[in-house]
Amino acid sequence: MRVVVTGGAGFLGSHLVARLLAEGHDALALDDLSTGSAQNLPRGARLLVGDVRDAALVARALEGADLLLHFAAAVGPGLVARDPSGTRSRNVEGAARVLEAAAERGLRLVVASTSEVYGPSADGVLSEERPSELLTSARRDVYALSKAAGEAYALALARTRLLPVTIARCFNVVGPRQSERYGMVLARFAAAARAGRPLSVYGDGLQRRCFLHVEDAVDAVLRLARAPASEGLVVNVGSDEEVTILELARRVLAASGSDAGLEHVPFERVYGEGFVDPRRRRPDLGRLRSLTGWQPTRSLDVAIQAVMAEGVRSAV
Ligand code: UDP
Repeated sequence: MRVVVTGGAGFLGSHLVARLLAEGHDALALDDLSTGSAQNLPRGARLLVGDVRDAALVARALEGADLLLHFAAAVGPGLVARDPSGTRSRNVEGAARVLEAAAERGLRLVVASTSEVYGPSADGVLSEERPSELLTSARRDVYALSKAAGEAYALALARTRLLPVTIARCFNVVGPRQSERYGMVLARFAAAARAGRPLSVYGDGLQRRCFLHVEDAVDAVLRLARAPASEGLVVNVGSDEEVTILELARRVLAASGSDAGLEHVPFERVYGEGFVDPRRRRPDLGRLRSLTGWQPTRSLDVAIQAVMAEGVRSAV
């Protein structure tokens, strides 16, 4: 099978490319290297450097493709808070170009989305049917709205042009090669612990998240790609092992043997006034399980060990 992975030199994308190659497929990464890096790619992977907003380039990349995985996006709370214009443009125009190119060819595709689409005040176990609670004034909701726009357009093309698309709404995917530069918490904690700096816990640290090992996320995405019943649907991809950020910090300190300790930092100091941080976010995984039979096989502690063990972290 010939698979094109947009954002293939980024964090999730590069793990997808590696798995596809290991399974004997031909994988082409289309990536502008804005936050990804060629070094993330395994030997044997092909890289086409360019922007997903470039329709001619996307068309060239898709020649002969059997499957498209759209994982190129502006991501990370730090990055999107600094660059709302690039976030909107990459995530809305970029998604539109990719979706339209796929629709022209009737190409099967999986589009990466995010739990941010549920909104900053959406609390608890989140099922795909739950209405989004986006807040235009929340600091990072340009990102959430841009991803929601991509989802809506994809689903509209599924209805009107029979585009065989599945939306994978990813919750806090973690693992080796995730960069600490754009805000993701486990990568940041691991980098701080390695450097002997205190781990910065934002707010009271009692906010809860579920972290999914990237290898389990790759498994879920590829199972969805092979499940025709998932076409035209949004599907949560995540873990249901819940943890507070304070507990995550303690486990990272324990895994690293570091005595760097932790410090509490107010949200306003990091993101400015008006930033809303979800208190609790946990995916309902019923749809993913019933469509694909997927089960995660790696615990949070395994993910922490994998992140602590790695040397290079340059992807998002
Ligand atoms: N967080 C933190 N310290 C950091 C980075 C993030 O305490 O250095 C917190 C952040 O405020 C949030 C949680 O960790 O409550 C997860 O953050 P991340 O950006 O990884 O994902 P998301 O906010 O999208 O769940």
